[in-house]
Amino acid sequence: MINIVLFGPPGSGKGTQAQNLIEKFNLKQISTGDLFRFNMKNDTELGQLAKSYIDKGELVPDQVTIDMLTDELKKPCDAQGFIFDGFPRTANQTEALENIVKEILNSDINVCLSLIVEDQVLVERLLKRGKTSGRTDDSNQEIISNRIKEYYAKTAEVAQLYKQQGKYVEVNGVGAIDEISEKLFAEVEKIK
Ligand code: ADP
Repeated sequence: MINIVLFGPPGSGKGTQAQNLIEKFNLKQISTGDLFRFNMKNDTELGQLAKSYIDKGELVPDQVTIDMLTDELKKPCDAQGFIFDGFPRTANQTEALENIVKEILNSDINVCLSLIVEDQVLVERLLKRGKTSGRTDDSNQEIISNRIKEYYAKTAEVAQLYKQQGKYVEVNGVGAIDEISEKLFAEVEKIK
């Protein structure tokens, strides 16, 4: 089994690259952002709760997010492993993920692949995406700035934790999509 944490600030291209990785290695992507958006679209209780945070560019509370991810991981599937996209986003979630993967999959996180993109490029990409995505959190600069602020305040430390475990790999997230994918593929090949 290969279990990958795809890491990086909002707009760094995690969703795009996850798509290429799942096809190449037959993995299942679990995106907490997508799961929240699905719940918001269907106006579930979880969706309403998540919306109150997401629309401000804040993180949804840990336990809510961890419970949602646990439920998703319990669903049967025949993939060769998982890509976690947008999770973990806090130190607490990082520890939770390790435990959940052990308990449910009897496995480990193999690598944290981190996409590096400077802030100015992130803002440009997110504003551009906002024109077509219909995502309220991409719609204005203030919310986007808050998401990037949350990233540095709460999420950046996740990188430190994977560094300590020797599982952290940085990849330049600026350039052609396929070139970035090739670099990510090469890193996955190393741990296969
Ligand atoms: P992006 O990476 O572009 O910010 P996502 O789709 O991953 O977009 O996440 C959108 C929003 O969903 C985040 O700003 C946050 O409010 C919420 N969210 C997603 N994943 C998590 C998480 N692991 N913990 C807390 N909140 C999350």
